[in-house]
Amino acid sequence: MTSQDCKYIFVTGGVVSGLGKGIAAASIGAILKACNYKVFSLKFDPYLNVDPGTMSPYQHGEVFVLDDGTETDLDLGHYERFLDENLSSLSNLTTGQIYQEILDEERRGKYLGKTIQIIPHITNKIKEKAFEAAKISQADFLIMEVGGTVGDIEGDPYFEAARQLHNELGGAKVMFVHVALLPYLKVSHELKTKPIQASVRELRSRGIHPDIIIARADYPVDKEHLEKISLFCDLPSSAVIPAPTLKTIYEVPISLEKHKISEIIFDKFKLRKKEPDLKAWKKLIKKIKNGKAKHKSRIAMVGKYTEHGDAYISIIESLKAAAAYHSSKLNIEWVVAEKLEQKDKKEWYKLKNADGILIPGGFGSRGTEGKILAARFARENKVPFLGLCLGMQIATIEYARNVTKLKDANSSEFNSRTPHPVIHIMSEQEKKLLKHEYGASMRLGSWTCKLSKKSKSFKAYNKDKISERHRHRYELNNSYRKQLEDSGLHITGTSVDGLLAEIVEIPSHPWFVGVQFHPEFKSRPLRPHPLFRDFIEASLKTKV
Ligand code: GLN
Repeated sequence: MTSQDCKYIFVTGGVVSGLGKGIAAASIGAILKACNYKVFSLKFDPYLNVDPGTMSPYQHGEVFVLDDGTETDLDLGHYERFLDENLSSLSNLTTGQIYQEILDEERRGKYLGKTIQIIPHITNKIKEKAFEAAKISQADFLIMEVGGTVGDIEGDPYFEAARQLHNELGGAKVMFVHVALLPYLKVSHELKTKPIQASVRELRSRGIHPDIIIARADYPVDKEHLEKISLFCDLPSSAVIPAPTLKTIYEVPISLEKHKISEIIFDKFKLRKKEPDLKAWKKLIKKIKNGKAKHKSRIAMVGKYTEHGDAYISIIESLKAAAAYHSSKLNIEWVVAEKLEQKDKKEWYKLKNADGILIPGGFGSRGTEGKILAARFARENKVPFLGLCLGMQIATIEYARNVTKLKDANSSEFNSRTPHPVIHIMSEQEKKLLKHEYGASMRLGSWTCKLSKKSKSFKAYNKDKISERHRHRYELNNSYRKQLEDSGLHITGTSVDGLLAEIVEIPSHPWFVGVQFHPEFKSRPLRPHPLFRDFIEASLKTKV
């Protein structure tokens, strides 16, 4: 198959950002996959950053990591979860990367002194990237989301490239899905269609006519509004699909398919109709909705970016998937680490009442002492504990200080003069850091880890070799391995050569596991990650 056989679906946004455009795009992918098609996705981020990995989680939410080590926007996480496919560096492109590639080519003389312009050079590069993703993935459908909203200056080259692609390949190969907000006006109690009309005008002024409009609303949308949008935006009313806010995002594929979105897509591409098999999704929704209230686990998430749920989105989705697996309800209690240090009663109450304690990943020293207090509480009170990346390092520091009795043990990230750097930076990474190569100084992407048979991790995975994704600079210091193990902190997972400690556990504790990697990047709603599954199971047991 060549990229010529691929069908291209562009997903654009209108009126406001943060509408769930990525979820709509991923849901369309899930529906097509449920028809047995191969689907791949590509997210265009119109910002100038070359490396989304160095962007602040405050502004952008979590940095998602792919198997090949690519650091991406959190939307790629939605794609992987909905599509249940492992994506690659082909799946994310920023304007910064495009410009960098073109400027490098220019420096190497590729353009032979020609004037380099947005049209055709940038737009050609965008199309080239789309073809490349289609070809390498061998997908039947390539779903491309354009970040931001139509009308944003920085998004224009992508809309122009999309228009050109449609012009070159024709309407049977390229389609446009526009996701736009249908706002509700409280004073007059009505949904207003004008903003959608205006955003479609913006699209059309760029030569793009949407084939489907997904009308995002906080409330149910009636027929009259759909017809109005259809009339003003010039498309059949069946192609205007309401998307009210649902109880869970995993209901979106089912909701879109209720309005026969697959039929519209197949018609457009002149393909034979197929019925998507959404049984597994339906079963999951049932489990999420019918979770037994008695069967509830309260998980304390002890973090720094606690006010920004998006900074931990993959962890939240992993916990939800695990809770649904056990048909249980889930309550996530956000505990601000710094407030634990300040002996804040409310934060301590939340921690003490938790059925499980989770310390997520993070960077920088703020809040680390509070996290150490939380790890200690979990260890001493036998509360199930899951430490992810930084969380594993915190658990190690706590154990070293309070059990192994290594006074003032710390990570050299937080105290470069600690007498006991039980967590330290490996020399290769340090060299890069000193050269200010922040992006390059991390251990990124998938690494194989071998597990010891007698461990909770082995029990969870039920195999002795696993592969998990990493994103960190610091590691457990091998000079302290023996002391830590002798005092009861077992290293139950290591890199294949045995040199990197990947998992620590306390065998005498009901469930205490810290992992140097990020299992949350591999958990899928229909296939919860074994560590999250067993962590929730252990937390449900503490209740009785
Ligand atoms: N700051 C720690 C490190 O760089 C942990 C990183 C993380 O949690 N992702 O090693």
